[in-house]
Amino acid sequence: MSIFTMLPFVKPEVRKAYFLKAFGRAEESMAIFSFGACNYNCPYCKRDGQFKGDDNQILRAQTYAWSEIKAHLDRAVAAGQRVRLSGGDPCMFPKQSLQIAEYVWGEYGQKISIAHNGSSLALVEELLPYLDYAAIDVKGATDESLARRAGLKPGRGRVERTLSVIKTLTAAGVLVDARTCVFGDTSREELLAIRAMLLDVACSNGGVFWTLRKYNEIASCDFVPGDATLIKAYAEQLATPELKVGFRDKWTGATFSIF
Ligand code: SF4
Repeated sequence: MSIFTMLPFVKPEVRKAYFLKAFGRAEESMAIFSFGACNYNCPYCKRDGQFKGDDNQILRAQTYAWSEIKAHLDRAVAAGQRVRLSGGDPCMFPKQSLQIAEYVWGEYGQKISIAHNGSSLALVEELLPYLDYAAIDVKGATDESLARRAGLKPGRGRVERTLSVIKTLTAAGVLVDARTCVFGDTSREELLAIRAMLLDVACSNGGVFWTLRKYNEIASCDFVPGDATLIKAYAEQLATPELKVGFRDKWTGATFSIF
């Protein structure tokens, strides 16, 4: 029987999938099921991922039985919400992720969504038949940049793997919201390089959207906060007919713009 290690919740947090509007779909509410471990160590982790033990567990995470998770899934679907697996990262819990995806599909004929850091092609390939859309992190244009932002030791092939994940999803018709956190010292050249990679996929497969998210200061992280006016201007300048670009400051719709 699977044990589900997740961030504590009384009921799942609900967020909107605004990027769907770029594809002519209505924005949807997503019920966020956040797993309690991640293989990356971003010092700015939005879900307090910086508080991690040696085994990559997020320290606040708790364990839940399948019956509890299932009850939340049932309520989310009944409320018209899309089930989204997030984190931490679902790649740390492939068996549990598949169990949820199979249940929601088998019980309700509904596909789910994932938010994933782009590190696991295996996860995406396994979940592919059950995915409607996905948010995939593109943390840098180079392996060096990605490793710095994700708090990882230097390594090769991570950017290429992220691109493979995005190509695999879009080739199967799964819409992708590629997300890049923009800091005060993120260069225009790096954004241009990321755009070139995403545009290549967009022109081949379609189905790619790019969100620039402003990095807002987090205590204990020394990354430089982004400038909202500048990032919004980047989003406008970098958008093309094939690759629409969004700007997000906070999670609310009022600060989500599509160009
Ligand atoms: S990839 Fe996401 S969940 Fe994982 S440490 Fe980075 S910000 Fe946190």
